[in-house]
Amino acid sequence: MITVNLENKTALVTGASRGLGKAIALKLASCGADIAVNYRSSDEAAETVWREIEKIGRKAMLCKTDVSDSEAVKQMIRSITDEWGGIDILVNNAGIIKDSLILRMSDESWDEVINTNLRSAYLCAKYALRSMISKRWGRIINISSLAGIIGNAGQANYSAAKGGMIALTKSLAREVGPRNITVNAIAPGFIVTDMTMQNLPEESRDTMLARIPLGRFGVADDVAELVAFLASEEAGYITAQVIGIDGGII
Ligand code: NDP
Repeated sequence: MITVNLENKTALVTGASRGLGKAIALKLASCGADIAVNYRSSDEAAETVWREIEKIGRKAMLCKTDVSDSEAVKQMIRSITDEWGGIDILVNNAGIIKDSLILRMSDESWDEVINTNLRSAYLCAKYALRSMISKRWGRIINISSLAGIIGNAGQANYSAAKGGMIALTKSLAREVGPRNITVNAIAPGFIVTDMTMQNLPEESRDTMLARIPLGRFGVADDVAELVAFLASEEAGYITAQVIGIDGGII
């Protein structure tokens, strides 16, 4: 387990009620950061995360906000900034899938996936950057996907959003680097969460597993450890990168 010092830092983790976001929120808290736990609808799950962070001894704030909604994101970040004086670490993790082959894809599912997975990252970065710029310190970590690099049949909407996140990462890194703010993307392969395991047939699991040289699916903590490192002081010279975490998938 990586140990970095994030004391006196505040972090906003989007989609932190479950899956990767929950593991990331708990890991950053265990390193000393106070955590704004964003989610959309899972109240009970988010409250559990909130309690676990308080148990670790850090402050937690519940932010029930749809991150694709511009006005709502603006409000959420204003509340965090009013309460804690700003956001030092932003983890753009919230995401959904609405898979279908393109000929059957509805315009609504295209828009919903692009807005939830990509527009959200733009909005959260735009509003969180204000306090980072004034403090001359910040970390933005975007949870992209292997699908954003190599694409995936049946996931044109998702892959386009995740690829867009990578381009957003590189552009923002270039824009805010002079203010001592790093921006990186993580591209996980197959990590065991609700998103991947719900409705996945046994034979698809086996096919997927056969493509992973390390012989196992990833777990949320694999990603959380990497996020903690990228958020740390020690990672201060790493920016504009896309870091794969996929067991060497082929
Ligand atoms: P889960 O489905 O387990 O969790 C998704 C989280 O996002 C939940 O906390 C959910 O909140 C939140 N969320 C969804 N829509 C919104 C919204 N509009 N506003 C705010 N919060 C929202 O997903 P994972 O943990 O598996 O995935 C997390 C991220 O990692 C995603 O961006 C995903 O694309 C990416 N990823 C995951 C991989 C994997 O193998 N699992 C692989 C590559 C990338 P609520 O609980 O309230 O619904």
